[in-house]
Amino acid sequence: MKVVLHICCGVCAAGVVERLVSEGHEVCGFFYNPNIHPADEYERRLEVARRVAAEMGFPMAVSQYDAEQWLQETRGLENEPEGGKRCSVCFRLRLEKTYLYLLEKGWDAVTTTLTVSPSKSAAVVNEVGYEVGGDRFLVRDFKKKDGFKRSMELAKKWNLYRQHYCGCIYSRREALAKQAANLNAQR
Ligand code: SF4
Repeated sequence: MKVVLHICCGVCAAGVVERLVSEGHEVCGFFYNPNIHPADEYERRLEVARRVAAEMGFPMAVSQYDAEQWLQETRGLENEPEGGKRCSVCFRLRLEKTYLYLLEKGWDAVTTTLTVSPSKSAAVVNEVGYEVGGDRFLVRDFKKKDGFKRSMELAKKWNLYRQHYCGCIYSRREALAKQAANLNAQR
């Protein structure tokens, strides 16, 4: 099948593209992540995704960085923890845009790298994906069969930058607060 793959970052894409290609699929990446904050972090992750696409030889389209729209869509959900309601809105926004790209391109199916992360619920991602794309959404859990481990191996091999928070301003704050608490505990 010809599969449009939503790519959240290059590290996650590495293992997922390898898996899809090994199953006989042709892959086109689609980078749409208006959740990423700040803008220089967005540029950094995009650069890594481009590097992975070049290493693995697959095409990757890049959509616009709608950071303002993302903030509007998630308004009122600022205090949700990672994995809560804000994340479902965030997944939907990104998968809807990817699905529109699938329709424009006329390919067969769509899926996302998001399920490769151990901190993401594949059930939630797949539920949102199915609501968006119906039978054209490939329901997967890419972290299974050591999928995450394989992404890490490739990241190490290619010396890729690995981020330490999910992406949005709120997850960044959460990560920084945890880091500060750990430092305080060590004193
Ligand atoms: S924690 Fe991650 S998935 Fe959840 S809203 Fe923020 S960027 Fe999106």
